[in-house]
Amino acid sequence: MNASSRQAANEVARFRTLAGRMRNDSLKYTRVIRSGIAGHLIQCSACGQAGSGGFKFQSDATDAARTHANRCLA
Ligand SMILES: [Zn+2]
Repeated sequence: MNASSRQAANEVARFRTLAGRMRNDSLKYTRVIRSGIAGHLIQCSACGQAGSGGFKFQSDATDAARTHANRCLA
């Protein structure tokens, strides 16, 4: 069990951002978080976009997160 396992409990998807892939930086990623109240939220570690969405369906949130990650150059 590592230190990050608890923090990642509600994480359902994670995509390395475009900048993260170019620089091989695993700390730049966009992730989908399951939230009981808001549905699914998107958080981007690179550009700080957080709380975007409130997607009802995980598939919608996952698509949006992937789209953002593919464009994010932060
Ligand atoms: Zn971003």
